[in-house]
Amino acid sequence: MEAPGRGGWVDAHVHLSRWWPEVRRTGYRPDLDYSVQGLLAEMDRAGVDLALAVQLFQAPSEAEALGEGRGAHASSKGRLLPVATVDPTRGDEAVRASVEAMEREPKLVAVKLFPGYRPFYPHDGRLAPVYEFAHRRDLPVLIHQGDTLDGLGLLKFARPIEVDELAGAYRDVRFVLCHLGNPWIDEAAEVVYKNPNVYADTSGLLGPPSSPYFQRSTENARSLIERAVVACGMPERFLMGSDWPLEALSAAVDLVQKLDLTPEDRSAILGGNARRLFRLPRSRGRTE
Ligand SMILES: [Zn+2]
Repeated sequence: MEAPGRGGWVDAHVHLSRWWPEVRRTGYRPDLDYSVQGLLAEMDRAGVDLALAVQLFQAPSEAEALGEGRGAHASSKGRLLPVATVDPTRGDEAVRASVEAMEREPKLVAVKLFPGYRPFYPHDGRLAPVYEFAHRRDLPVLIHQGDTLDGLGLLKFARPIEVDELAGAYRDVRFVLCHLGNPWIDEAAEVVYKNPNVYADTSGLLGPPSSPYFQRSTENARSLIERAVVACGMPERFLMGSDWPLEALSAAVDLVQKLDLTPEDRSAILGGNARRLFRLPRSRGRTE
């Protein structure tokens, strides 16, 4: 077991946006400090050094979302890493404009797509300029997978099998299956196994802590992650994520720290894999 407080971990999936009005209802704690300071304090407590701040498709424009990410990066002194988002259903012109805006953001570490929340498949031809950009800049593309928070999404767009086709078409781009494809976790493990350019994150698998089943849902998530890692035998392609504010960072870290894997593999999932994938600096002062 990793010594408590050592940290230096990387959270590959958090959200911090003023365009998420229902966050108080959906957050893991009603009195959550939903701000840069609140997130940094939680990161410190959980031993998380850096977090990927994934921008949301609900922003009025993708350019404004980019500006929000830039601001969070600056005010966190570089600990919150901006991740852009693009919605191809806004049309070819909007996609082109978003790619141009992303070209002007040197701090971006990834691009996030929200199929399922929005009606498009990840292999939608309208996304070609985004994948060409990701290839040019060598930025991984995070893809929402599986369950959606509200009933408005369409799950058929968010299955790992749809990323299989994409991963084959863009071998030089690295993709991350968010939420381990939940509930299609076996399918996600197979898509990771089959495609050398596909990774998965562990975010958003825990239920609300207020639920009487929280402990059991945590144990369930732990066995599902172990099963996926063991099934594909590639711990180097798994990334710890929380989906904060939907999960506490400490719960997301604890989940991985208790996986029945080798200490080296747990440590890699907690930070080393993300540092390599997103080309992040080494831990600042803390040891991994
Ligand atoms: Zn998320």
